[in-house]
Amino acid sequence: THFGFKDVDAKEKQKLVAGVFSSVAGNYDLMNDLMSLGIHRVWKRYFTATAQVKPGDKVLDLAGGTGDIALLLRDRVGDTGTIVLGDINGDMLKVGRDRMINKGKVAGFEYTQVNAEHLPFPDNSFELVTIAFGLRNVTDKDQALREMFRVLKPGGQARVLEFSEVTQEWFKPIYDFHSFQVLPRLGELFAKDSDSYRYLAESIRKHPPQKELMQMMEQAGFERCHYKNLSAGIVAIHSGYKL
Ligand code: SAM
Repeated sequence: THFGFKDVDAKEKQKLVAGVFSSVAGNYDLMNDLMSLGIHRVWKRYFTATAQVKPGDKVLDLAGGTGDIALLLRDRVGDTGTIVLGDINGDMLKVGRDRMINKGKVAGFEYTQVNAEHLPFPDNSFELVTIAFGLRNVTDKDQALREMFRVLKPGGQARVLEFSEVTQEWFKPIYDFHSFQVLPRLGELFAKDSDSYRYLAESIRKHPPQKELMQMMEQAGFERCHYKNLSAGIVAIHSGYKL
């Protein structure tokens, strides 16, 4: 691998991931638009619009980063609801919080620096737990899924939005070209950081494909698990319930 992620142990991986996100935090929103041609906005909108959530609910958005998902869910939980934005990286959280404050969004948000593998919340705390473009960065994904399950209230839903396996053969070479040629160059050009964007492409390829992730959710205790491909499987939405 280009970024030296292959043969490192779990602790080391966590440190490297932290470095990547500290390095990209300032450019994160711009880069998302550039790399996906703005389509990440459509995915996130769909992901939140189809979530099981109602006014007054308490939501945990893990790996919340600069707050796109939290913002979109805000209207759905209304004035009486709460959105807890959790991220392991203080720099990403800070960009997120500043951005919310600039938008005048203050009430109903909480920020907390947390590792998705060890959540500092009691059992049965949230009606909805989301993680968008975050699970693939987590070292022990099974542990993170078990934690998501634990903090959900019975009847609550967990949703994962993540890059997945492209389903159309003809599209694969184009996608690979974009990932391994275009992305690092965009990273170099706009963020002076091609390594972080190489890590991004590699982490996407290593992430478990649709069916495997669904099985991992079932293993973690979720029921009625489902997934839906968006944009020919470039991303997929997985959901499951704690019953
Ligand atoms: N959810 C946001 C979005 O969709 O724009 C941010 C996604 S960003 C690609 C991934 C985020 O995951 C980063 O902010 C990173 O700090 C966070 N992250 C990585 N490992 C984590 C972990 N173990 N626990 C919590 N957050 C983590």
